[in-house]
Amino acid sequence: MTIMSGRVAMVTGSTSGIGRVIALELARLGAVPVVVSIEGAKIPETLEELRAVAPAAEGFEADVSSQASVEAAMDQTLAKFGRLDILVNNAGITRDNLVMRMKDAEWDQVLAINLTSVFYMTRLALKPMLKARYGRIVNIASVVGLTGNPGQANYSASKAGVMGLTKSTAREVASRGITANCVAPGFIATAMTHRLNPKAQEAILSQIPMGEMGSPQDVANAVAFLASEEARYITGETLNVNGGMYMGF
Ligand code: NAD
Repeated sequence: MTIMSGRVAMVTGSTSGIGRVIALELARLGAVPVVVSIEGAKIPETLEELRAVAPAAEGFEADVSSQASVEAAMDQTLAKFGRLDILVNNAGITRDNLVMRMKDAEWDQVLAINLTSVFYMTRLALKPMLKARYGRIVNIASVVGLTGNPGQANYSASKAGVMGLTKSTAREVASRGITANCVAPGFIATAMTHRLNPKAQEAILSQIPMGEMGSPQDVANAVAFLASEEARYITGETLNVNGGMYMGF
């Protein structure tokens, strides 16, 4: 893949799990990663790891569900680097419950952090990207946004929403050198899936033709491709990274 040197890449939720590995992969490819996370205490150790590869890596504490908070992170990024080439909307949470029992707060929180945040970040990122007539937006969706999953109405609605938002954004800015795509992971071994009980984990494995969970690196590889020069003619697409669990057409 072409080296991404000079590219500034903001990755939300990048102090742990998939996001951290994405930031590291983009750094390895030559980009300057900008960490955005609500886990402020983890930012220094994340930056230490990233700066070993990309010395200019930067990090800002922000709650992606707060417009003011992400605006501050974007302002600081633009003040420091003067550009934003790649945006990876990765921050996400689950608050599982059956629809009949789901609390308003469980619905609202998941929609705010998983979907509204992507709208806020995209709206902010498009300004510098349109000016530069270049941009790569990669949103982390999920297989359950395509298939549904009992107990995850809020989560699957948020991820299906991310795919719709991505397609509309892609159509709006396609003529300006900006692409917007999704990566839809299946089950990936991170803190999010470790929280599942062993029975649920076993049930999941039985649905995966490859017979194993994916790794954060599997997701990061797909993100890196969509963020690269080579993916210039791909937009509005969702790339499944799920070991064959769901095959789109
Ligand atoms: P994780 O819990 O390990 O990491 C999530 C990250 O998001 C953390 O760094 C957390 O601090 C950050 N975050 C949470 N709320 C935030 C907020 N309000 N503002 C800023 N940052 C916030 O989870 P993960 O498994 O690495 O998941 C990453 C993404 O991948 C999520 O969007 C998730 O929905 C998606 N995904 C994960 C799986 C999986 O199997 N792990 C499958 C499909 C999709």
